[in-house]
Amino acid sequence: MNQETEKLQQYQKLIQARNRFTIGFASLPVFVCLCYYILKIFIPIQGLVFVLTMIVGIFGYIFVMFGFLMKDICPWCKQHFFFQSNSSNSRLMKIHSFDLFFRKHCGHCNEPKQD
Ligand SMILES: [Zn+2]
Repeated sequence: MNQETEKLQQYQKLIQARNRFTIGFASLPVFVCLCYYILKIFIPIQGLVFVLTMIVGIFGYIFVMFGFLMKDICPWCKQHFFFQSNSSNSRLMKIHSFDLFFRKHCGHCNEPKQD
């Protein structure tokens, strides 16, 4: 198997990971609402239920984001594929809102060039 085929396979996995991330990102509010209603049955204190739901929601998003960021590596340039780091501050992530969910080319090297 040549290197280019291998990179394209990694790219396919990256796109799959992004699709899973999109589903996770979209279904998390539903999950959080469900969590709220379930907790409300067991805990009579309204404020506590709200705080617990917020914690679950925040951790859920952190979990989904980090899981995705771990996989978000371009097979070609080894930089972030979907996230673009700002040139003035390389640690600062720049997310192009909805572009993230539809992006098919790397934000740094613009690979894959075909299709
Ligand atoms: Zn790249």
